[in-house]
Amino acid sequence: MTANNQSASGNSPGVPILDLGRQSAALGRQIAAALARVCESGQFVLGPEVSELEKGIADYCRVEHAVGCASGSDALLLALMTFDVGPGDEVIVPSFTFFATASAITRLGARPVFADIRPDSFNLDPADVRRKLSPATRAILPVHLFGQCADMTALDGIADEWDLPVIEDAAQAMGAEFEGQRAGSMGQIGCFSFYPTKNLGGAGDGGMLTTRSADLADRLRLLRGHGMQPRYYHSVVGINSRLDSFQAAVLNCKLPHLEPWTRERQKLAEQYAELFVAEGLDRNVVLPQPMRGNRHVWNQYVIRIPDGRRDALRNFLTEARIGTEIYYPLGLHEQECFRYLDYAPTDLPQTYRASREVLALPIFPGLTVAEQEQVVGRIAEFLNRAGGHGIPAPKFLKYPARRKAAG
Ligand SMILES: *Cc1c(COP(=O)(O)O)cnc(C)c1O
Repeated sequence: MTANNQSASGNSPGVPILDLGRQSAALGRQIAAALARVCESGQFVLGPEVSELEKGIADYCRVEHAVGCASGSDALLLALMTFDVGPGDEVIVPSFTFFATASAITRLGARPVFADIRPDSFNLDPADVRRKLSPATRAILPVHLFGQCADMTALDGIADEWDLPVIEDAAQAMGAEFEGQRAGSMGQIGCFSFYPTKNLGGAGDGGMLTTRSADLADRLRLLRGHGMQPRYYHSVVGINSRLDSFQAAVLNCKLPHLEPWTRERQKLAEQYAELFVAEGLDRNVVLPQPMRGNRHVWNQYVIRIPDGRRDALRNFLTEARIGTEIYYPLGLHEQECFRYLDYAPTDLPQTYRASREVLALPIFPGLTVAEQEQVVGRIAEFLNRAGGHGIPAPKFLKYPARRKAAG
């Protein structure tokens, strides 16, 4: 994933959206040694490396139990299986999320019920969740998008009232906090991914489930291993979703660095905000903002371009060799495979709008201030080019007042 930052467009070297090499270069030798140990042990699935990682993640997320599995997608599936979600059931989820959040529900024959997001946090709007509740609702599945927790006070309140479990999709938010509580410790089950682009990324696929309940942890362990207990006796139908020892060994090397990496991401986010303000762009661009009481871990730095020029800006940046990404170009309610759910695009107006306005900029440990200046400088160059694209004068959308981050 290392982009070639030597070749120039015009005279600027470019900035990659993500360069994993910078993060792990210093760990190369340690990781190689850990992998060699796994080879020598001959234990390639689960085993001591996985147990060590489960313990490390449980401590980090401040829960009693963590259960490794094959991916973040499987973590979501296993969490829903634990609560016997199936045909006839509904699960309330945001539409503005990665596909796996909803496909875990449909794979079990249940129906995802999409709720809208708040425009300031991109996270589930509790008021809309309340509107989407029905007698068929079996769980609420908030996503902590881009590294910031959803409003768990409000969502837990609704869940308590309706006696529903909350499953946190915390794939992008390891280490994030809401009112002092860690992502993955607030709902009944937290779901994490070690996909390489996450804040704690492996060298392939991997996932983890967190819970404070010993019973749920037992059930998750049973379900991830074909429901087999003891060997070759199956009381329930589970799946094969184990974490392999190589991944765990890599992640055990990286976990002690997660806090410093997170602080680096936070610093990069602050620097972006300062650079945008210095360029006078904080009025043309809506900057991401940590919500009150949140510890944002900045898996992504996502700005909004509310004047219809998002795609033109992205093309301009691509030509300038500046990597960007659109998370996500469509709400899930607009995806072809979910057409049978019968949503109109604007049924979720905030999701619809966000998907047309968002642009993720490079943010990763090792990104330099000079590179950030280049990113913001290019954005300024584009946005200040008066009328250059024949697009009418920007009509700014009204957003709720920004709140100051606590802590
Ligand atoms: C990455 C991600 C997942 C899926 O994780 P995988 O390990 O890729 O299966 C699920 N939900 C969200 C929000 C994610 O970002």
